[in-house]
Amino acid sequence: MDISALYKCFTECGKVTTDSRNCPKGSMFIALKGETFNGNEFALQALEKGCQYAVVDEKEYAADGNPRILLVDDCLKALQELANYHRHKLGTRIIGITGTNGKTTTKELIASVLQKRFEVLYTQGNLNNHIGVPLTLLRLTPEHELAVIEMGANHPGEIKALTRIVEPDYGMITNVGKAHLEGFGSFEGVIKTKGELYDHLRYNGKHIIFIDKDNEYLTAISQGLTRICYGLEGGEGLYICGKLGSCAPFLSFEWEHEGQKFEVHTHLIGSYNMKNALAAITVGRFFSVPSRQICEALEAYVPHNNRSQLTETMDNKLIVDAYNANPTSMMAALENFRLMDVAHKMVILGDMKELGETSHEEHQKIADYLGECDFERVLLVGEEFGKVLPPFEHFKDVVALKQVLERYKPKGYYILIKGSNSMKLGQLQEIL
Ligand code: ATP
Ligand code: MG
Repeated sequence: MDISALYKCFTECGKVTTDSRNCPKGSMFIALKGETFNGNEFALQALEKGCQYAVVDEKEYAADGNPRILLVDDCLKALQELANYHRHKLGTRIIGITGTNGKTTTKELIASVLQKRFEVLYTQGNLNNHIGVPLTLLRLTPEHELAVIEMGANHPGEIKALTRIVEPDYGMITNVGKAHLEGFGSFEGVIKTKGELYDHLRYNGKHIIFIDKDNEYLTAISQGLTRICYGLEGGEGLYICGKLGSCAPFLSFEWEHEGQKFEVHTHLIGSYNMKNALAAITVGRFFSVPSRQICEALEAYVPHNNRSQLTETMDNKLIVDAYNANPTSMMAALENFRLMDVAHKMVILGDMKELGETSHEEHQKIADYLGECDFERVLLVGEEFGKVLPPFEHFKDVVALKQVLERYKPKGYYILIKGSNSMKLGQLQEIL
């Protein structure tokens, strides 16, 4: 079946699902394959559960001639092409976001700001890959005036592939840092991959980007594009400039646009979030959201999902940043925690994953930095942190750490919890 015929069926449905356990009435089921499942096997079930159509890519599942079963060559490709087709039909202006750290936070902040003036579609949670991105685009409706789409990558070429689906009108790379080095090969590989967003914009005559002027790597690869810049006070040619206020513990800062100054008091932990917020202000002002409303939106935003979040328990105050970790974000979190003007600081860190050959070196760098800080207690979790010198209090996994914390429960601490998601440090919240 060709894409325009498939699109016609989609317009009857208006909704797509790839999960046969979740089949909204009248939606279109697209049968994807995973390592352990074949969506084709669930096509009939999806129809029984209320889907209007089921899209399959293996002939045998379309053999009985059921008109509600649609056969394509490749379901994943069909999903992506459908999303791109839909995106073109609606013509909504799209801001594409990628970067090593802060994509989700920046995307949420931009959406909060833009929603003050526009109907905005934005990526839910972290659905930023080759499946999540098309699913997000297929949620576009004619009411949406702008869309903010997060694009993630672990390997070279992935951003290029996503930009072909999204075809963003505006681009933002939040930053470039050390993450997924296993997949990218090197830091240069990271820069090149993120730069695929700029390349796409360049080749398609969509020249506007929102950029952190303080980031030399981004500046270097952004030639030929129209740069709407944000950065720290004192920088040249800034559309929006920011000045850090306090982080005790929540981030406050000042920003300036065309000689006018504003103060913002956020619910975000971490000085690094100022750049994420400046990015949102820049996009907001660019699309003429009034400055006061921008401040309101930023002040009302409360983070969730273990990102830059402060939780107060009966006994302790927790900064739970256990959702992801790489050398850049871990350093940012530690630097921020070090500067925080509070007493009794404890740090619990879990291994950073996917660092390939540089893994030991990067964990050792974190340990060296910990040696320079005077945190009251440092607890390290995971195999990689077990190899650093000098050794810190160490646990092989979260289960081992939990057993100790249950017996000797810390009280009255400010605790930073950070590690890769698979280290499961988020679980510590129940105990602490
Ligand atoms: P993912 O790759 O998992 O989608 P992301 O890029 O969407 O991550 P966020 O989820 O917004 O990033 O933030 C994850 C963590 O990255 C934060 O909790 C924080 O520790 C760190 N971080 C966020 N923004 C920045 C920044 N501007 N600079 C450095 N580190 C940051
Ligand atoms: Mg994300």
